[in-house]
Amino acid sequence: MKITCITVYQVDLPLEHPYWLSGGRLKFECLDATFVKIETDAGVTGWGEGTPWGHTYVPAHGPGIRAGIETMASFVLGLDPRKVLEVERAMDLALPGHLYAKSPIDMACWDIAGQVAGMPIADLMGGGSRTPRPIAASIGAKTVEATREVMQRYRDRGYVAHSVKIGGDVERDVVRIRDVESFRQPDELILYDVNRGWTRQQALRVMRATEELRVMFEQPCETLDDIAAIRSLHSAPVSVDESLVTLQDASRIAREGIAEVFGIKLNRVGGLTKAARMRDIALAHGIDMFVMATGGSVLADAEALHLAATIPDDQCHAVWACQDMLTSDIAGGRGPRNEAGHLRLSDAPGLGVHPDENLLADPVAVYS
Ligand code: MG
Repeated sequence: MKITCITVYQVDLPLEHPYWLSGGRLKFECLDATFVKIETDAGVTGWGEGTPWGHTYVPAHGPGIRAGIETMASFVLGLDPRKVLEVERAMDLALPGHLYAKSPIDMACWDIAGQVAGMPIADLMGGGSRTPRPIAASIGAKTVEATREVMQRYRDRGYVAHSVKIGGDVERDVVRIRDVESFRQPDELILYDVNRGWTRQQALRVMRATEELRVMFEQPCETLDDIAAIRSLHSAPVSVDESLVTLQDASRIAREGIAEVFGIKLNRVGGLTKAARMRDIALAHGIDMFVMATGGSVLADAEALHLAATIPDDQCHAVWACQDMLTSDIAGGRGPRNEAGHLRLSDAPGLGVHPDENLLADPVAVYS
């Protein structure tokens, strides 16, 4: 089987509510999504998606995905998409780094491999749990009142896991954490996500001031060096996501004990093939996981669910899905959808969901 054609689509995915990141990073209202269709000489077609969470979040750029695919396309055409490691090596040779540009191609290849095998990707990867995975809501509010309001909005949709965005003002962060803890329900999972918003001293002040609450923080500081430097000075469990990019990051975090949890972002780390190795490092070191695509449509949510399903139930805290934050749907309601705050893996082969091509505009590029 050979890849005969790669077709690239660009789609704007509007957010229902505008989003602000901490640290003065720009407000954004729309995600720049890239969809990739890979066709083969066997008549099987696979789909992938790459949707960064805006340009200002991490070094991942919507137009950069399309430019990267242009550079890599001639190296990928003609390969057998079921041989995901060969496709991975071809992309790494054609374009070192730029992992986020590679993940849509990797995803489409896994989709094809699953369809040919007649198995969901998670099962093809070795076995996917059917235990529904909680979806972590993204609570981007600023004030105590707005935080309660946004959390309630998600609770009303069934969510039991929440990623509460903090970072910036130390006093305000402490007040918000105390308030959220005062009204959290017994079965709720709450992660306080700093999105790199604190300096070392700010992180220590908040973490020490909330010590008795035993809460968990994600990405408290900008770099792994920062997070490592304060590790022995507080007692809170830490998740790392934005600084978890390469396999070398994963092995360093595991060996040096920098974090107890990985937040694996599939688009950021280069797709399922590379993310599966991070999962294995985590499992080998007693590290729990959150899994997310980074942003995007139900295709991206489905990709995250497949990886999450390959993690033992008790080591997979939640997935993050973007579908309830968007006002448009390119898959016409198909694919894994929020069911009482959870995503459920189906038995559909491959990714299990494709875009409705009538809902995509004309392709921006075709390579054959
Ligand atoms: Mg995060």
